[in-house]
Amino acid sequence: MHIEHDIKLGFKDVMIRPKRSTLKSRSQVTLERNFTFLNSKSTWAGIPIMAANMDTVGTFEMALVLSQQKLFTAIHKHYSTQQWHTFFNTAPKDIVNYIAISTGTGKEDSKKLKTVFENHPELKFICIDVANGYSEHFVEFLQQTREQYPDKVIIAGNVVTGEMVEQLLLSGADIVKVGIGPGSVCTTRVKTGVGYPQLSAIIECADAAHGLGGQIISDGGCATPGDVAKAFGAGADFVMLGGMFAGHTESGGELISRNGEQFKQFYGMSSSTAMDKYVGGVAEYRASEGKTVEVPYKGDVKATLQDILGGLRSTCTYVGAERLKELTKRTTFIRVAEQENQVYN
Ligand code: 5GP
Repeated sequence: MHIEHDIKLGFKDVMIRPKRSTLKSRSQVTLERNFTFLNSKSTWAGIPIMAANMDTVGTFEMALVLSQQKLFTAIHKHYSTQQWHTFFNTAPKDIVNYIAISTGTGKEDSKKLKTVFENHPELKFICIDVANGYSEHFVEFLQQTREQYPDKVIIAGNVVTGEMVEQLLLSGADIVKVGIGPGSVCTTRVKTGVGYPQLSAIIECADAAHGLGGQIISDGGCATPGDVAKAFGAGADFVMLGGMFAGHTESGGELISRNGEQFKQFYGMSSSTAMDKYVGGVAEYRASEGKTVEVPYKGDVKATLQDILGGLRSTCTYVGAERLKELTKRTTFIRVAEQENQVYN
């Protein structure tokens, strides 16, 4: 047994220190970024915020709205090949720049991936997503996928430590997804005791990835636009959101009306709700590692989007970053023992 004594931090443990700035207005801030990916050599331009590949968030409807502002959606893996076909019949051509097709590492997963790519070779991004990115099987699957699709952009995760980020980049990933346990409907830390505070995970994993010329996505744990800013400040190239995009018109999940109020169902992809829906229940050898909740219905995602992007622009003006690209360089975190004033909460 071994203990690491360095304290690891989450979003709630820090704030960003303001810095002298020459920016007059937040309208001067550019949130768009350009990337060239390590293995596929593809390029991308857009606002690097992503809807998570959960069936309540990573929907075709979400992608159509987010892509209008050049944000990205990792489409969940439960759409059928027929549903993909219908989507492509009506979606704008440039949608392929703003969506990834998600896959697990099973035989059926790779068969479906192949069929969708045969039907829609213009798709550019693949998101290989497993709860535990430390497994050898996952790395082998990633290597095979890279061989099979040499020029597609491959996202792979999730991991939380630098050495595994390096291993995934060297095994064919372009972008590594970082986060174990911080998610709003995740119970991994409770069920297994495993996890890593997200801010430290970002700082350490970004360092490892950038050293090799790769990128990372901070996945999970953002509850406010301020958290999104902290994730970028810590070094994330992309930030993936589940809960913050849940509960909207474009989100999946049942709309529930009760006593004149409306809610939408939101659940983890390892929750018993998801497992009942897709694999006929929770297998005997495992426990569910996700919650099912009802979130107040928030209307169209457009308003939420403005809130997030407006917040992020404001962060950039507070530290004098004219572009999102400069935010990490201009960020000094201070450790704190308080966050927002709770008097009226
Ligand atoms: P959020 O933005 O809601 O805090 O986090 C979203 C992320 O939580 C997802 O992108 C995914 O990585 C993670 N997640 C989604 N469902 C589950 C689940 O059932 N269990 C666990 N452990 N993580 C989940």
